Amino acid sequence: MEVVRITPRGYCHGVVEAIRIAKRVGAERATDEPVTMLGYLVHNEHVTRELEEAGVTLVAEPDRMKGLEQVRAGTVIFTAHGISPQVVRAARDRGLNVVDATCSDVTRTHDLVRQLVDDGHDVVYIGKRGHPEPAGVMGIAPERITLVESIEEADALEVHPGRPLAVTCQTTLSVWDTKAIIDRLVERFPDIEVHNEICLATQERQEAAVLAADNVDCVVVVGSTRSSNSQRLVQVVQEKGGKPAHLVDTAADIDPAWFRRMQRIGVTAGASTPTQITRAVIAAIEALPAPDAEAVTAR
Ligand code: SF4
Repeated sequence: MEVVRITPRGYCHGVVEAIRIAKRVGAERATDEPVTMLGYLVHNEHVTRELEEAGVTLVAEPDRMKGLEQVRAGTVIFTAHGISPQVVRAARDRGLNVVDATCSDVTRTHDLVRQLVDDGHDVVYIGKRGHPEPAGVMGIAPERITLVESIEEADALEVHPGRPLAVTCQTTLSVWDTKAIIDRLVERFPDIEVHNEICLATQERQEAAVLAADNVDCVVVVGSTRSSNSQRLVQVVQEKGGKPAHLVDTAADIDPAWFRRMQRIGVTAGASTPTQITRAVIAAIEALPAPDAEAVTAR
């Protein structure tokens, strides 16, 4: 089977830096001092296992404040997705040593939202409920930020009359969905200040995958089901590229039946997927037998 390697794919700068920080802290810890990551450092099970082997324990509780209750001593590492100021304060109050592995792109969004609120704006934040990144941003000023997930919610949004309004977003959303929601908000509130904060890594990976979809029969995205940016890659290939797409965590998840009567398979990977996992997936697809000529002609 022919594989088209879609680039860019895989690790982004935020993930590389978060892993580097966590491994360093794990290596430098005193033997009796626990090091805990508060939630998945990045949304990938292979990375999590590697970090656990390096001495960093996972508290998997999705609610960071509840998770913090399980951390009794030592060092706590905040994940690449960012953290709310309330959790940072609570960690310090508990006497924990705090290490922040928030991606610099997420920190920039936090700084932006803080500035907007200080300047008197109410903020509409486009993001996915239950994901740690929106939870971190909302914590900056819960009473002044409204989370919106869809065009329907943008339509239903009620705003405070007389207060300036701004919109920003989670870094790993679909470029196209986010634009559609922003466009609707601009239609409803022409004076709204727009700050599209989808990060460059997400944008480039999505655009490359949609472009490649033109020249392949199907796209395989290597990434975890927990990973927002991996899920969005599947979604944009299906919705914008018009081709089937499948999310696999490892080569073991590949179902050869997906590729019946297909010749060229595109492969990309989420921003938190280790390169060796993607390499193994590419090798496994390349090892599959090519479809017979008759089946392809009959398409
Ligand atoms: S996907 Fe974007 S925001 Fe998330 S860690 Fe990578 S660079 Fe940072």
